[in-house]
Amino acid sequence: MRRSSARDTAARALLSALPLLVLACAGTAPTRALDGPEPRAPRALAWRYTVRADAALTRLDVVACFDAAAPEVLVPGLSGAAVPLEPRGWDARGPFPLSVGEGGVLRLPAAGRDACVAYHLDVGQVLASGDRDTAFRVGRDLVLAPDVLLWRPRRVPGDVAAQATFELPAGLAVSAPWPRVAERGDTYSLDASAFAWRGQLALGRFSPETLALAPDSTCEVVLLDAPTRTSAAGRARWLEAAAGAVASVVGAFPREHLQVVIAPTPGGGDDPVAFGYVLRGGGAAVTLLLDGGADDADLADDWVAVHELFHLAMPPIARRDAWLSEGVTMYFTELLRVRAGFITAREGFAALHDGFLRGRAAGTGRTLAAESSDMHETRAYRRVYWAGAAIALEADLAMRRRVGRDLASVLAELRACCARSGRFWSADEVVARLDALAGAAVFSEAATRWLAVAAFPDLGDAYRALGLDPTSGEPDSDPDHAALRDALMTSEPSDR
Ligand SMILES: [Zn+2]
Repeated sequence: MRRSSARDTAARALLSALPLLVLACAGTAPTRALDGPEPRAPRALAWRYTVRADAALTRLDVVACFDAAAPEVLVPGLSGAAVPLEPRGWDARGPFPLSVGEGGVLRLPAAGRDACVAYHLDVGQVLASGDRDTAFRVGRDLVLAPDVLLWRPRRVPGDVAAQATFELPAGLAVSAPWPRVAERGDTYSLDASAFAWRGQLALGRFSPETLALAPDSTCEVVLLDAPTRTSAAGRARWLEAAAGAVASVVGAFPREHLQVVIAPTPGGGDDPVAFGYVLRGGGAAVTLLLDGGADDADLADDWVAVHELFHLAMPPIARRDAWLSEGVTMYFTELLRVRAGFITAREGFAALHDGFLRGRAAGTGRTLAAESSDMHETRAYRRVYWAGAAIALEADLAMRRRVGRDLASVLAELRACCARSGRFWSADEVVARLDALAGAAVFSEAATRWLAVAAFPDLGDAYRALGLDPTSGEPDSDPDHAALRDALMTSEPSDR
């Protein structure tokens, strides 16, 4: 502990020169755009974390230091998810008393400037909640929300600059969605979104692998500690094909850096990937629950990876508006599988048809708007996803017919302006933006028609235009219909 304290002090002395430089540059800094990539300007370090673990990952030790005036309280991002054990605090004058309050809040009324606190967490206690959003183990490896680990002031400034350094025993590695601080291997830079949005850390005996996903995009992939029949080369081909397909639809891969966590799960499911999700806290992360029985060839049947990666091409969309985020994503999921070479165009249309049939058969009789806002209670996922996908298909065809645009090219523009937005968008906002980008109120017309009614969207006109049999989904042989089907599955983003 003494060695690291000395290092902290030396680092602080070195960094104390920085605030003046930052102030000197502030007047000439470009105005930040409301949406889109946010430039990371060099800033004074405000909060610094050092995380250590034992070899078995049963105990995590944290030292957290806060530059300048001390916060009165430090809170965990997830209230009550973990108890900070044996907390201690000190500043330049020496130790100060602190106490633990409700929900694990640390109170430090006597702390002076540049205060540090130290505490540790019992991983078994954190896992005891059984909440996978908080923490879970895969074999000996551990995945946990940074919210459980990093106590911080109650208010997180929008321009907060924080760093986290991991000092782990030999053989243990860390994977985080945060950007690395270049000169130090396991030191990461955390912005406000790392505290405001969910993220996840993986700690374990894995070897993170870096893949070039698309031009200007890399991802760090970790395979957690459970059996899989897939090979590293097979997984790399699968992820590169999925990311390449997303980039081909929306013009570029939406992120320069991505964390991919692959968690093999006990085999036996219908799909090679049982489940996946995207997190955006501090950077982009995708977690994929890979069926342990799946091999490299089975990965060609996967739809989850392209689906999750595609979510990153749109701004974060409010949970109640899943019909839009999941509908557009579901529609493109099948197109992406064709683009990635996983399935043929004919199989892509068959998959869309099958999805529409299942969506039509599901649901609770609510309007689509209500079905969408209540989805997590009623579990009417299929209805919401596929009704949204039907609206996306209708909008795509209407754009082509009426304004000579297509949904992929419009989404490419949405990706460029807004995919990295730091706030949730409502469906109304996204739909208005899609209309504006398309130059006609095409998406809003399709959405308005079906959101307020309980009936599944009628795809009769769409099927006629595409030459698909309404019952079997089989394509006809009319060359005009075939040309439209080809355009839907293969079109590149247009120039506009
Ligand atoms: Zn989804």
